[in-house]
Amino acid sequence: MDQKQNIEQFKGQPRLPKFAIPKSYHLYLRLDLSACTFSGLVNINLSILDSTKYVVLNACELSVHQVLFTNSLNHIFTPCDVVLDADNEILVLVFEQVLGTGEGVLSIEFSGALNEQLKGLYKCSYVDKGVRKNMAVTQFEALHARRCFPCWDEPALKATFKITLDLPSELIALSNMPISDEKINGNVKTVYFEESPKMSSYLVALAVGLFDHIEETTADGIKVGVYCPVGKSDEGKFALEVAVKSLEIFTRYFSMPYLLPKLDMVAVPEFFGGAMENYGLIIYRENEMLHNDLRSTAAKKQRLTIVVAHEVAHQWFGNLVTMEWWTHLWLNEGFATWISYMATDMMFPEWKIWTQFLQETNGGLRLDAQEQSHPIEVKIQHAHEVDEAFDAIGYKKGSAVIRMLQG
Ligand SMILES: [Zn+2]
Repeated sequence: MDQKQNIEQFKGQPRLPKFAIPKSYHLYLRLDLSACTFSGLVNINLSILDSTKYVVLNACELSVHQVLFTNSLNHIFTPCDVVLDADNEILVLVFEQVLGTGEGVLSIEFSGALNEQLKGLYKCSYVDKGVRKNMAVTQFEALHARRCFPCWDEPALKATFKITLDLPSELIALSNMPISDEKINGNVKTVYFEESPKMSSYLVALAVGLFDHIEETTADGIKVGVYCPVGKSDEGKFALEVAVKSLEIFTRYFSMPYLLPKLDMVAVPEFFGGAMENYGLIIYRENEMLHNDLRSTAAKKQRLTIVVAHEVAHQWFGNLVTMEWWTHLWLNEGFATWISYMATDMMFPEWKIWTQFLQETNGGLRLDAQEQSHPIEVKIQHAHEVDEAFDAIGYKKGSAVIRMLQG
């Protein structure tokens, strides 16, 4: 077979080949919010499990510049071919020499654009003192971490992440982990985040913008921060109270501590859905997190409570324990939906929230009555089918089945 044929074998495959798997990522990103671009360097510690001339990982809508592989003997290998396959969202690195089994570091320099599609690392805007400004936010679930940096973008391929970010010095940078160090150099500051525990790539998160913030500490010493649009921190108080109580309830209920030192929640003006449970940094669409007692209805207050409890529950169901593949997504969403009612009932028993659970499951029943209904466990052959699994059957019918099991 010639090399071209060899590359063809990786296209259209449902999953990445496992010649090499990641152990840790050191990701450096430099943001240019006025040009809406970013550039980066990722150093990935790999285990080469099978001697190979090929390393195949995910990348999408990125420009790849320099690639090097350094093995444990400090020998440096440069690929003779670097193929970005846009259709399959894979990056195939072809080496002339075989890379032997063992450890090594893959270094990739890349760049990209902050998109307006609300996926990957994207741009949204806000008004500060009458001036429209850009903010950078991530949304990686299910297949969009690869739009921000080259990676093994499958839930089972967990690794640690250590992120460093260059950004305009007046802005706030948030990620999964707390900041360990910060250096200011004129208009640019470099923010170093602590290394995360092992986690899936779809849970990595960043938010960069101007925010007001409030915080509290749980009984177990976890710092919970809520980041709101400037001037609106009062409207984040209720979500903060619910997040603190939910963390305390789940820590007791699971007899398993929350493993990160902090949990932040941030409200952004443009977001693909209601909220995303990124490990240690939950991102919300603004109106799903902000609450004003003078303007919000009782129903909205109840929905906010359920949404916050749902996202906090994911810190265990999904983030700590993760489905091996998207086929079992309903376990993430069904459990988080069911237990969000349980936590809400514990926090506000006077709401009798379980009486509304039937209404929650209604959407599932409606979809289930249609001819094209499917089992709650949806066989996902190819990653691109995963969006179909995020429907009312997974969330609502899934949660109803779990409630029956609990009963
Ligand atoms: Zn969820």
